[in-house]
Amino acid sequence: DRMITNELKQEDEVIELSLRPSTLKQYIGQHKAKENLAIFIEAAKMRDEPLDHVLLYGPPGLGKTTMASIIANEMGVQFRATSGPAIEKAGDLAAILSSLEAGDVLFIDEIHRLPRAVEEILYPAMEDFCLDIVIGTGPSARSVRLDLPPFTLVGATTRAGLLSAPLRDRFGVLSRLEFYNTEDLASIVERTALIFDVEIEPSAANEVALRSRGTPRIANRLLKRVRDISQVKGEDRITQETTHAALNQLQVDEKGLDHIDHKLLTTIMDQFRGGPVGLDTISATIGEESQTIEDVYEPYLLQIGFIQRTPRGRIVTPLAYAHFNREVPST
Ligand code: ADP
Repeated sequence: DRMITNELKQEDEVIELSLRPSTLKQYIGQHKAKENLAIFIEAAKMRDEPLDHVLLYGPPGLGKTTMASIIANEMGVQFRATSGPAIEKAGDLAAILSSLEAGDVLFIDEIHRLPRAVEEILYPAMEDFCLDIVIGTGPSARSVRLDLPPFTLVGATTRAGLLSAPLRDRFGVLSRLEFYNTEDLASIVERTALIFDVEIEPSAANEVALRSRGTPRIANRLLKRVRDISQVKGEDRITQETTHAALNQLQVDEKGLDHIDHKLLTTIMDQFRGGPVGLDTISATIGEESQTIEDVYEPYLLQIGFIQRTPRGRIVTPLAYAHFNREVPST
């Protein structure tokens, strides 16, 4: 069982890699972030300096890792990737840093999850390109300073506010990735279909886009499932009819909401009269971690105006009631 899921995961990763655009030009959407980065990259190249450290933030699946690897590619340097939870000890990070070559991009995903002691190694590394290492213990301990090659740190996190202030302040470029509009998502779906070597009707690509919660990773995932169903039906191209039926079968509704979104919204409606209700209470009631709700589910529900955050907790809006064909309870 474990083997199978591992293999599936690997297959997923291989597909992800082949789907990743490699230049800013190929990167669809995120016009503001792209425009800014293009200028900073060009300026750094003119000065023959590494790019300033970049913090990319936004919900999962919006293209942070992809953007980081594009930065390396556009700068013409190596891309080295790791993640906050993968680095347990200060020494682990010191080893990574001292193996970098001049100009390299070091990408740290989920950078807010770096242990504190590891994070502190980063401050002098980011600021002065050096490592402060303590040798020995007790009274004979002394600190040695090692030089590092200049490099660019690209950090990714779901919310900039999760970072400690000293870490956040050391990034020269803060770039927020936004949910994609339907048009951009449809382009991503068409691009992915091309890579998969399947034909898709424009209206079908649009339908996948509409139901992808503004997120390329979800769009690609849904397209894979729709492709399977279309193939089994023996179609020579993915039609809108099949797409519509397939997505209904996958329990993704017209707004792209899945069964967990439904559970979250209907729980607030049914058990808390639409709120306000605190995040922890919601978490305990539906059995999902608060952090997952806050990072994965809520941002899109806030974006489409189905929930609101108030000082007293979350409330479900009349729009959400309408989506479920329900009456807003009278107070
Ligand atoms: P994140 O790091 O924010 O979680 P990723 O960079 O891993 O997101 O992107 C998730 C998937 O979506 C990848 O397969 C990637 O190829 C695709 N993707 C993301 N952004 C774009 C884009 N702008 N254009 C095309 N594909 C994209």
